[in-house]
Amino acid sequence: MDTEEQTATTTHRRGSKAARRGSESAVDSTAESAVEPTSEPTQEREYADGQRDAEAQASEPEETRGRSERSHNSRSGGRRSNSGRSNSNRSNSGRSNSGRGGQRRNGGRSNGSSLSPQQDEHLIAPPKYRKGSMRITPLGGLGEIGRNMNVIEYNGHILLVDCGVLFPEEEQPGVDLILPDFDYIKDKLDQIDGLVLTHGHEDHIGGVPYLLRLRPDIPLIGSKLTLAFVKAKCEEHHQNPTMVEVDGRDKLKVGPFNLEFIAVTHSIPDALAVHVRTPAGTLIDTGDLKLDQLPLDHRITDLVEFGKLGEQGVDLLMMDSTNAEVPGFVKPETSIGPELERVFSEATRKIIVASFSSHVHRVQQVVDAAHKIGRKVVFVGRSMVRNMAIASDLGYLHIPEGTVIDLKKAHDVQDNKIVYMCTGSQGEPMAALGRIAEGTHRDITVNEFDTVVLASSLIPGNEHGVYKVINKLVQKGARVVNKDSAAIHVSGHADEGELLYLYNIIKPKCAMPIHGENRHLVANGLIAVKTGVNPNNVVLAEDGDVVDLYHGQAAVVGSVPCGYVYVDGDSVGELTDDELEKRRILGSEGFVSCFAVVDTDRSDVVSGPKIYLNAMAEDESDFEQVRRQIIQQLEDAMMQGTKDTYKLQQIMRRTIGSWVARQLHRKPMVVPVVADIAQDVDTSGRR
Ligand SMILES: [Zn+2]
Repeated sequence: MDTEEQTATTTHRRGSKAARRGSESAVDSTAESAVEPTSEPTQEREYADGQRDAEAQASEPEETRGRSERSHNSRSGGRRSNSGRSNSNRSNSGRSNSGRGGQRRNGGRSNGSSLSPQQDEHLIAPPKYRKGSMRITPLGGLGEIGRNMNVIEYNGHILLVDCGVLFPEEEQPGVDLILPDFDYIKDKLDQIDGLVLTHGHEDHIGGVPYLLRLRPDIPLIGSKLTLAFVKAKCEEHHQNPTMVEVDGRDKLKVGPFNLEFIAVTHSIPDALAVHVRTPAGTLIDTGDLKLDQLPLDHRITDLVEFGKLGEQGVDLLMMDSTNAEVPGFVKPETSIGPELERVFSEATRKIIVASFSSHVHRVQQVVDAAHKIGRKVVFVGRSMVRNMAIASDLGYLHIPEGTVIDLKKAHDVQDNKIVYMCTGSQGEPMAALGRIAEGTHRDITVNEFDTVVLASSLIPGNEHGVYKVINKLVQKGARVVNKDSAAIHVSGHADEGELLYLYNIIKPKCAMPIHGENRHLVANGLIAVKTGVNPNNVVLAEDGDVVDLYHGQAAVVGSVPCGYVYVDGDSVGELTDDELEKRRILGSEGFVSCFAVVDTDRSDVVSGPKIYLNAMAEDESDFEQVRRQIIQQLEDAMMQGTKDTYKLQQIMRRTIGSWVARQLHRKPMVVPVVADIAQDVDTSGRR
């Protein structure tokens, strides 16, 4: 992040504070100048596709950066720290672990190298719920891209909207997933009347199995495809959820909440926005959306219905901010087809396409283009195969007879008659494309004159991985086509122009930008103001902020703890930020040294073991468990007659090595040193 961006971030956060105080314009002119829209497109971040999703991990770890098969959680010991996540790596938005009293970013590393001012050090507890108001508490998705979840309360009833996951970054070694913090609703699970799922992307549904562990019978409300994806996910967790299917313009009463669903376009079919009406007022949560006028399935965003609801009066519009900084309009999905056909027609050998495995329409276009030139299509990767089976069973994907063949039969087909459709477009080393590039894929190799198409966005932060994969493919002689060289990708999120339309059509009284890092939220807020929303009515909230809607007026009234909950192998919510920090240290040039003084004559550990990580002495309490193990092992060995310090060192190395591997998921260099005072005495005696 350069200085200019840093300034911008700072300004944003000030804007945000202003909104909370309500004492000045939420989106002031300073902020406006600081957030001049850039032409750099903000990409889709939904990772959606299971390329790194939890279920994928469950049975196909290689699809998911090789993470462990088990999925669990772990409550972040560092409450409301968000610390570990340096989201700014991806985007420069610099969400500082929510800054709310938690540790700072970079994994709880309080090193003071802040990218944004440390503020909100203490949470201001929200006032008691005011009867007759609607209380909205985002538990994820505001200030970060991922783990979207909003809690809506009304007179002792709760409606949840979305329950997604956030995917870890390199700075969070060993973490499989990051969940919204359910702490806020943990004590009132029985008040939950339903969970609305706006669409089937992982950052909207990935957390569902973990929520259902707390209460299995929460009704899940969503469209047909969304529920099918959720069902498949829950089945892998041996859950059989209660589901209520809805479609655009359907109305549903859930407790005191009168819901209406509105069809929207996105990078997955069957997405919905939800309109919520209670006596306290009305709100719309758009989920992720764009205004594609020419989507493949002709199911466009229902602007007519948005207009009607706007006419009736919408108090609060909570709208997708992901692409708020990108000027203009997203091109139609159907513009990709002809370009794919062109690229395919130039290919002389094998074609390998990588995209998100939930992007049914993108896959459809690949299938259509392949069919047109007489090529067979092979779906590669567990999430791709599973999702496309669901989509085609339900009629969302249309496969011309005989076009798609099984991977096992691919060997019988000539190279110039085949298209492999796989995951790995984000450079994930363990996804299909990564392994193909590496030459470690069991079934698919890439050779000279093959064509590889990356038909997806390049998510900021993944550049390194993606270009590494591209370089490897090029080295092997392949022609690589990506969005830089051909128009083979469009985003799933509304650009600025589309957001303008939506604000103008819905004409909300208040706006609360959701789904985005701080810069995206602020950019969205500025768009609201441009269309006439009173700047004082733009609520720039972050995760854990409590927003009350009362008499049509929305404002932040306090905050609740809202930390990162890590899913790490077998544990949910147990991994702390401190442990993450140790993993990071050991993951780089890490080594553990361990020093003990023994007396082999008495079979006694006289001092230590003292443990050091990268030459830094460690807090003994953290290592108490392994210290006791080491002492036990050394004493046992000495009791059985071992006097050789080399052997004792080996015992110490093994004990601490396996403990670190187990606890911290690292394999650092271990340097054991055992000094024997009995031998020292002997030596001096001989002198
Ligand atoms: Zn999405």
